[in-house]
Amino acid sequence: MTLTDVIEMLEAAYPPARAESWDAVGLVAGDPAQQVRRVLFAVDPVATVADEALAWGADLIVTHHPLYLRGTTSVAATTPKGRLVHTLIKNDIALYTAHTNADVANPGVSDALARAVGLVGDLVPLQPFPDDPWRGLGRIGELPEQTTLDAFAARAAEGLPHTPGGLRVAGDPARPVRRVAVSGGAGDSLLAAAATAGVDVFLTADLRHHPASEFVESGGPALIDAAHWATEWPWLDSAASILRESGVTVETRVSATVTDAWTRGY
Ligand SMILES: [Zn+2]
Repeated sequence: MTLTDVIEMLEAAYPPARAESWDAVGLVAGDPAQQVRRVLFAVDPVATVADEALAWGADLIVTHHPLYLRGTTSVAATTPKGRLVHTLIKNDIALYTAHTNADVANPGVSDALARAVGLVGDLVPLQPFPDDPWRGLGRIGELPEQTTLDAFAARAAEGLPHTPGGLRVAGDPARPVRRVAVSGGAGDSLLAAAATAGVDVFLTADLRHHPASEFVESGGPALIDAAHWATEWPWLDSAASILRESGVTVETRVSATVTDAWTRGY
């Protein structure tokens, strides 16, 4: 398999044209003609992930987050990002990003999150594209049976990789929960959609005090705030399965390195 072949398969699932205009997706480093035998999937393009790729002998790292979201005038090894570029190129490791195009894909980041926290059956976007009701941000689905907010939070914590911050819950722990909205990554922008979606709880990441407080005060669904990294991590296996299930001769591995920004909880 060449890098071009691998990219074609990923882009069939995550068309770059669906990325937000501010986003930076696609090939960051690597020669399209190079051979790819081992592909490491990770949320963040950071030094620990590059080290893992190097130790395993990966030819390609596929990350969710872009290395450079804005332009740069230097990749000198005087910054963490420049150093990472050096590590990759010196070791023939390519870097490819599928970010907001993976968020809105079907299945995409929030489908994997929904399954990880126990949602079953059909999932529909929380904020569908006007021209495509099956794609868009976030997902709404149902639990197999009604439970409480407390029990659902425990179930969600079990289904997501552990992070020091764990989950934070806003709402009555005894509140009945069956219909659930989820969105991988920062979910502030979807609070309005969640408020009118007829769901019992909205699980996402990076919620801030004021929007969350006003949301709950106004009688909206309960909120669960998870670690950003943890909400996007379940997608990695879903992305890896595209290569695995195609029968191509590449080895895939999902990085278990916790790269969430918050490293301790007290
Ligand atoms: Zn993210």
